[in-house]
Amino acid sequence: MDPVVESWGDILGPQALDLALLGAFMAFALVGFFRKSVRLKYATLVAAVGYMGFWKSRLVSVVDLFAVADLSLPIFKYSLPTYLLWVFAIGSTILWGRLYCGRICAFGALTQLMDPVVPRKMRVEIPVRIEKHANLIKYGLLVGVLAYFLVTRDVSVYRYVEPFWMFGLFGTTGMWIGLAVLLLATVFVRNLYCRFLCPVGAALGLLSNLTVFRIKRWSECSTCKICEKTCEWGAIRGPKIIASECVRCDDCERLYLDQQKCPHWIILRRKGNMFVSTPAR
Ligand code: SF4
Ligand code: SF4
Repeated sequence: MDPVVESWGDILGPQALDLALLGAFMAFALVGFFRKSVRLKYATLVAAVGYMGFWKSRLVSVVDLFAVADLSLPIFKYSLPTYLLWVFAIGSTILWGRLYCGRICAFGALTQLMDPVVPRKMRVEIPVRIEKHANLIKYGLLVGVLAYFLVTRDVSVYRYVEPFWMFGLFGTTGMWIGLAVLLLATVFVRNLYCRFLCPVGAALGLLSNLTVFRIKRWSECSTCKICEKTCEWGAIRGPKIIASECVRCDDCERLYLDQQKCPHWIILRRKGNMFVSTPAR
């Protein structure tokens, strides 16, 4: 009997809808990103929670990093949506920075959706000197879980470092309590998990040191603090944007382009007026 030959139609058929929806979601996220639109950004975040989180439970996880470290990658032709997500996460980070964290990750989207709801006065601002050190915890966790996995081959450790499993609605009572504490802490400290604890965020943060298209700065940024105060990720320190902490949320870029608020434009306008009002000799 002839062996059954699998056609690309047989392979693509069961994955087609998934691929199309994932591709459409990513394209939508990119449109919002390029248009610097607040409304499209929030629509993307809602879709990330609903579609990527509760419906598909599809997130880049330390389990994926384990698969890379272990050279046990899923079979390409049967896992096309997974590879599409990986290519987007890595490719967009190299091109623009942690766009995956800022738009695609369902947990990051969930915590960002808390921002417009939680009153500002409840927020605790972390001083830069503490933030600088707290940022490093996630890198320690990344190294720790990778080392633990390579020694024990125990994949289940992901449950203790990632709250993503909530989207699959499984877990122990202890884990649900841990998640509740984490979300409660996020009410007071914005994006707490993503900024300080997420090993995947740490891996993408390392990769973002290669980012090609970075956010530009004006010369006035060295003294102006408006963007620094606006950044909810603690990614702006003086004139510098810390690429590994920036998730390309657009908040500073919208200010940067705002001719009414950004001192760069205000100073330019004043110079222009002075020039115009200088009496001709
Ligand atoms: S830091 Fe982690 S949890 Fe936060 S958005 Fe990035 S991958 Fe998701
Ligand atoms: S405000 Fe600017 S620096 Fe901060 S995370 Fe958003 S895009 Fe990055």
